[in-house]
Amino acid sequence: MTRIPLIAGNWKLNLGPSQARALGAELAQALADRRDTEVAIFPTALSIPAVLGAVKGSGITVGVQEIHDKDTGAYTGTNSAHFAREAGCTWALIGHSERRQLFAETDEAVGRKARAALQAGLLPMVCIGETLEQRDAGQVHAVVTRQLSAALGTLRPDEAVTVAIAYEPIWAIGTGRTASPEQAQEVHAALRAWLRDRYPAFVAEQTRILYGGSVKPANAAELLGQPDIDGALVGGASLKADSFRAIVQAASA
Ligand code: PEP
Repeated sequence: MTRIPLIAGNWKLNLGPSQARALGAELAQALADRRDTEVAIFPTALSIPAVLGAVKGSGITVGVQEIHDKDTGAYTGTNSAHFAREAGCTWALIGHSERRQLFAETDEAVGRKARAALQAGLLPMVCIGETLEQRDAGQVHAVVTRQLSAALGTLRPDEAVTVAIAYEPIWAIGTGRTASPEQAQEVHAALRAWLRDRYPAFVAEQTRILYGGSVKPANAAELLGQPDIDGALVGGASLKADSFRAIVQAASA
C-alpha cells in the first residue's frame, strides 16, 4: 500500500493577511511542479481567506490551527469546525503541543475536537509527542499511545483512517533539534502497530503518520525516507517558499 506523502506547513501566529497572501501565491507557483505529494497550509485564522484566494486552483489545501468542539455558542475567541469548513478549510490541526502546553488543551479535548472536525467535514491532523523528561524516563510509547487513544478513541475505522497523525517530539519543536531518522521511525512504527492492533488492517496501512520537529531541507530526505514516515508537519521552515519547496521536493523524490 503506498501512502501519498503529505507535507503541511504550520504558520502559527505569523503572517497577517497581506504577507500570508503573498507567501500563498509564491507557494502556488513554486510547488506547481510537485509530483504525488499533497500540501496543506495552516495560516492564522484571520489570514485563511487571503491564503485560500492565493492558492486557488493549485491543489494546495488549507486548514485551521484551532477549533472548539462546539459549533456555536458563548465561547468567545475560538473557531468552529463548521465555520472553518464553510470558509473553505480542508483540515483542522488538533492537539498541537503549543495548544496543550500554553492553552491547557487536554487529551479529552483533543478527542472531542477530532470528532467535531469530522462531523463538520474537516480532516483532523492530530499532533502527539513527548517532552524531553518523558523521553529520558523511557515513557515515549506510553505517552504517544495514550494521546493517540484519546484522540481516536470514539472514531470508527472509516473515520480514523482519514486522520493524519503528526508525531512531534516536543523537545524538537522550534529548537533546531531533530529526532534522528531512527528515533522517529521507531515511534512511527510503534504508532502503526498500535493502529494495527485496534482497527481492521486498512487503517494501519492507509493512515498517514507525519513527523514534525525542526524539519528542514537538510534533514527532510532522510526523515521522509523512513518506511513509516509519510510526510512532515513543518513550522519554521514553512515560512519561506524556498525551504518549504525543498521539503516538498524531498517528499516527491
Ligand atoms: C510545529 O510547530 O509543528 C513544528 C514542527 O515547528 P518547527 O518545524 O519549527 O520545529
